[in-house]
Amino acid sequence: MITSPLWTDQFPRPADLSVSTELPSHVDVVIVGSGYTGLCVARVLVKSGASVAVLEKETIGWGASSRNGGMATPGLKLGLSKIYKKYGPEKGREFWRASVDAIDLIDEIVRDHDIDCDWSRTGHVAVATKESHMADLESYANWIKSEFGHAMKKISSSDIRQEIGSDRFFGGISDEISGGIQPAKYVFGLAGAVSALGVRLLEKTRVESVYSEKNHFCVVTSRGEITADEMVMATNGYTDRTLPGLKQKVIPIGSYIIVTEPLPQELQDELSPKRRMYYDTKRFINYFRLTPDGRMLWGGRNNLSVNLDLKESSMILGQQLTAVFPQLEGVPLTHSWSGQLGVTFDLMPHIGRVDGVWYANGYSGHGLSIATYLGTELGLLISGEKERSPFEEIPHQTMFFYHNRPWFLPFAARYYRLLDWLS
Ligand SMILES: Cc1cc2nc3c(=O)[nH]c(=O)nc-3n(C[C@H](O)[C@H](O)[C@H](O)COP(=O)(O)OP(=O)(O)OC[C@H]3O[C@@H](n4cnc5c(N)ncnc54)[C@H](O)[C@@H]3O)c2cc1C
Repeated sequence: MITSPLWTDQFPRPADLSVSTELPSHVDVVIVGSGYTGLCVARVLVKSGASVAVLEKETIGWGASSRNGGMATPGLKLGLSKIYKKYGPEKGREFWRASVDAIDLIDEIVRDHDIDCDWSRTGHVAVATKESHMADLESYANWIKSEFGHAMKKISSSDIRQEIGSDRFFGGISDEISGGIQPAKYVFGLAGAVSALGVRLLEKTRVESVYSEKNHFCVVTSRGEITADEMVMATNGYTDRTLPGLKQKVIPIGSYIIVTEPLPQELQDELSPKRRMYYDTKRFINYFRLTPDGRMLWGGRNNLSVNLDLKESSMILGQQLTAVFPQLEGVPLTHSWSGQLGVTFDLMPHIGRVDGVWYANGYSGHGLSIATYLGTELGLLISGEKERSPFEEIPHQTMFFYHNRPWFLPFAARYYRLLDWLS
């Protein structure tokens, strides 16, 4: 079994991607991290006339942006009703709208730059793992309809086979606006687009520290120093201690994926007749879909840790997969990989500043569309084309007990497993 992502195995970082070999001495904006966030910030800023460098400690797109499930769905990790309670209806509406616009923004970017990335709006289905979850899904769909006029469809347990080839679920709700993508093709396409616009991309350039001098930032990297008027940390689940105050705001969580070998057409049609994106209603969520070349992709969080052995992970995920799709018993798994997502204590994405350095992070598993959106939003804020963002206006809390190592995750994992068992 291959222990790197299927996506980059099938579509490695293009050899002709134009990357710089020389670190410039000064740019208007330096961006750390070359995933969707960093590249979308860069896209806006270079269009506004700024000189921009994107610094990546590995290779372009190496982080979660080339490792994810490729599922773009509306909403945020924190449920809308909780968002309403916490931030009020006005902000709540803005957050919902942003999550929907974020999916349309992928459409726009893919179209504008002619990115070939298998982007397809085939919709998603949230499937109920317990009978009691159906009532929650239904009341959520009704509320979304009454509040935003956005229609989702209830699928009863007797109709669920029209949506998924499994008897494991008690029904679900479908939403046509969601889509699926080949994540690596998208991130490399974005990189090619911004590089063509004049952004300087630097690989194997680790940012080690930063200090302010006069009116600019001095950024110390593994290749030397660069100065910039503005600086952006777009490191999300891979945030290190370059800025200790930022590390405390985002928690790295491991997410794990396996895929099968390509399935016969008939079996693909049975398992996913409409080629939906799926996720279930557990707190320890599983997400799954067919890949563009007809494999079943199955993902989950296992125990939240970032360093679970990939063989062990494939055994755990493989058992979950065949419990839902017994038809896949004995079908070989070809790839098992993992990546780190960035989760915040309040489960909300944030834009903010630490020591004057901008950041956007905390997409909590919704980053395909939301990182695209917040990266763009942050670019517009820095260029002055936008004056405000709701993601910048909510407090970004941290906890006094979190400095460097998320030692509390095993306890959180046990707590969530208990909640999954109880409800
Ligand atoms: C397995 C998995 C499945 C997922 N599935 C989905 C999904 O189906 N749908 C969805 O919406 N979201 C999903 N996500 C989340 C989504 O992939 C992320 O939210 C999104 O890619 C974040 O993009 P980013 O640009 O902010 O960060 P990343 O793509 O993680 O990029 C951060 C980059 O920063 C670099 N970096 C860090 N520190 C430094 C430094 N000091 N110097 C230089 N570079 C540095 C890293 O090397 C990395 O490349 C998934 C995530 C994972 C891991």
